[in-house]
Amino acid sequence: MSGVMVVGYLFAGVLFIRSLGGLSKQETAPGGNTSGMTGMVLAILIAGASWLMPYVGSNASPLPMASFGLLLGVMLVGGAVGAVLAKRVEMTGMPELVAILHSFVGLAAVLVGISSYLEPHSGKAVAGFMHQAQAMLAQRGGPGHVEHTVHLVEVWIGVAVGAITFTGSIIAWGKLKGSISGKPLLLPGRHALNFVVAATIIGLGVPFLQADGSGGMPYLLVMTVLAGLIGMHLVMAIGGADMPVVVSLLNSYSGWAAAAAGFMLNNDLLIITGALVGSSGTILSIIMCRAMNRSILSVVFGGFGTSDAKPAAAGAPAQVPAGNVAEVKADELAKRLAEARNVIIVPGYGMAVSRAQNAVQDLTRTLRERGVNVRFAIHPVAGRLPGHMNVLLAEAGVPYDIVMEMDHINADFKQTDVVLVIGANDIVNPGAMTDPSSSIYGMPVLEVWQSKMVVVLKRGMAAGYAGVENPLFYLENARMLFGDARKSVEALVGSVRPPA
Ligand code: NDP
Repeated sequence: MSGVMVVGYLFAGVLFIRSLGGLSKQETAPGGNTSGMTGMVLAILIAGASWLMPYVGSNASPLPMASFGLLLGVMLVGGAVGAVLAKRVEMTGMPELVAILHSFVGLAAVLVGISSYLEPHSGKAVAGFMHQAQAMLAQRGGPGHVEHTVHLVEVWIGVAVGAITFTGSIIAWGKLKGSISGKPLLLPGRHALNFVVAATIIGLGVPFLQADGSGGMPYLLVMTVLAGLIGMHLVMAIGGADMPVVVSLLNSYSGWAAAAAGFMLNNDLLIITGALVGSSGTILSIIMCRAMNRSILSVVFGGFGTSDAKPAAAGAPAQVPAGNVAEVKADELAKRLAEARNVIIVPGYGMAVSRAQNAVQDLTRTLRERGVNVRFAIHPVAGRLPGHMNVLLAEAGVPYDIVMEMDHINADFKQTDVVLVIGANDIVNPGAMTDPSSSIYGMPVLEVWQSKMVVVLKRGMAAGYAGVENPLFYLENARMLFGDARKSVEALVGSVRPPA
């Protein structure tokens, strides 16, 4: 590979790091996106150029037109599918798209691993490194035993991580889409089962390393199936409320799978990119775990440490909601809002479903024009994607400085006149603090019930993603405004606005 290409790869790596830095804040996120896209275009161009280089000006090896056509073809088809998907996907469908994209990375690592085992040289050719690798091997008088063993270990680890990522992401996709139940599948002795399968995966590696030629293929295939099963089982064992952590964990696994593919293909940029995705996904998972008061190990090992059914704490009152549900009409609520001094809006998944964010921004502007102090409270797992609510509010033009994270605003509910909960449920469930039998027990929530009045905008009495009852709706200071969130907020805007 020429020096220009090495520098190009380095530059692309720097752009990816800048991209991650930019994406950490809403204000700089568009710049972060641009850096990421530029880095990716550069990486694709250099990978293509490094494949073409050996043929340019060489009479001895003419350009293999069939391979070239295939390369262009898959790039065009892949690019077109990506562009159409990105254009069509709704914000509510984003988590499923992300999960399925992780599965592609896992599948790619499995396929690269198997092909690189069968044809180590053609595997390198995929990344455009065949000639470099061949030259290196010729210099050294052929592949040494140590290099060969290292390559086999890379293949083994890469395929195992790829298979876990592939099947785990497909199960996560099904759970997010609702086609697989969000309830955890808790098989008896599941941890022992995971341990035995993991030990078998490691044990099978020994005959694989000892096999001659491609004689280790049966071991590799059996291990791929076992790793796939473990990936499915780990994610099936996770309950609905822990899914955000699983999504970010699979994001990190997909990074490690890409890094493993980078080792197999001897591609430095793939190793750098994979490591960046892997480590940022791990950091995000740790942040999400802290926010949800969960142990990362318990989520990594499929609910390790959580008992199958938590008994209610001794003496704790039964948590079946008691009391009546009181409704409020839009015009009556509009009056309360107009008279309020402090209002906090808590957006949730229902705001995304009903696409209410623009109406919410209209309401915010109208109230602020009347001198009301309006702020937003964002729970770390609101919606179906980390940062889901922040993206929607930013898209609608809500000023960043009134959008507060949970830790910064939770103490302020006591001084708040009206809280509007727009299509949120689990993140405002007091049972998470008081009901030890609840699957979300221990997760910090927004303490909206501390305010003078809390109004929940939703269509009916359905539970949220975690499938648990919400005692909030039955509290004395709680009111329900039933209906589609967007229509309800639009009605509020109409009523709060002074007649022209
Ligand atoms: P929830 O899923 O708890 O609740 C959403 C509520 O919105 C439902 O109760 C529903 O009630 C209501 N709703 C749906 N459509 C509409 C509509 N058109 N208009 C008005 N209301 C509507 O959402 P939260 O944001 O409170 O909590 C997020 C949950 O998702 C947590 O359990 C979290 O763990 C999980 N999760 C989060 C991920 C993340 O990364 N953020 C990823 C995966 C899961 P009704 O049908 O009665 O209207």
